[in-house]
Amino acid sequence: MPLPYKMLQTWCKYRLLPKSLSNAPDEFVKFYQQGSPNSIKKLDHRLYQGLEPKREGFKRFVVISDTHNRTSIETDIPDGDVLLHCGDATIRSFKKEFVSFNEWIGALPHPKKIVIAGNHDRFLELRPLNTFFNVFGASDREELLEEFTNYTYIEDESINVHGYTIYGSPWTPVHLGGFQKQRGKSIRTKWDMIPSNTDILLTHGPPVSVGDLTKHGDYAGCVDLLDQIQNRIKPLFHCFGHIHEGNGVYTDTTTTYINAAICDISYKARQPAYVFDLPEKNNEDYDLEPPPYHLEAADE
Ligand code: MN
Ligand code: MN
Repeated sequence: MPLPYKMLQTWCKYRLLPKSLSNAPDEFVKFYQQGSPNSIKKLDHRLYQGLEPKREGFKRFVVISDTHNRTSIETDIPDGDVLLHCGDATIRSFKKEFVSFNEWIGALPHPKKIVIAGNHDRFLELRPLNTFFNVFGASDREELLEEFTNYTYIEDESINVHGYTIYGSPWTPVHLGGFQKQRGKSIRTKWDMIPSNTDILLTHGPPVSVGDLTKHGDYAGCVDLLDQIQNRIKPLFHCFGHIHEGNGVYTDTTTTYINAAICDISYKARQPAYVFDLPEKNNEDYDLEPPPYHLEAADE
């Protein structure tokens, strides 16, 4: 029998498990994910690479992440109506990096482009610039935002695109760089801000157990983010990057999860971008229930 999340939290309280599951992603996966009805399956990622032409009456969303200044990307970026970038556009967050990112993304054909920040884009975080970095040519948030002319930047906010509500959030559990929060209560305040009516969720980092296994063998994803997604928000799609090793497409049959990190662990831009099509909101031939866009899980 799978163990419900609430029961595990109670066990934590009585110290049968670590103090809090929030701080123990590896324990969470060990006790919760295996055999749970909410457990995650990997999908055949080739079905999400936009090889089929877009059907009439649909909008095509293209997801990329973690491009890290690789403006001569080896990966083909498929054409579509909306381009979503899940953060880590740069490596050091310096102005010249954002200038070339803006030029590069501006040259892509997608009519609408939405970008969030990642931990590497740290000078976008609203806090006084450390003079130490300033000496080396870093710019403050306001100065950087002026360079964002070819896309819409969102941060802890929603945007409506073709009738779908897209919410973007840059925060990840403490590792390095900007937009970091401690696991547990601190990061949960950010996830509490995500509206329940979100259709497409963009975060920089993965939820625990979904495309978050690092090369060191630990699960780096956020336990509280998975809890909020599966038990409250239930978006159609959750797109992210950050853990480059986790590139791929996953499902719990309610939400499709996409880790679209373009750069691999050696920062070579050669991992695939992903594509999904959603019916236009005035397209009465397609109901959102049951979804026509969830494909069968791969036999892997
Ligand atoms: Mn990255
Ligand atoms: Mn990152």
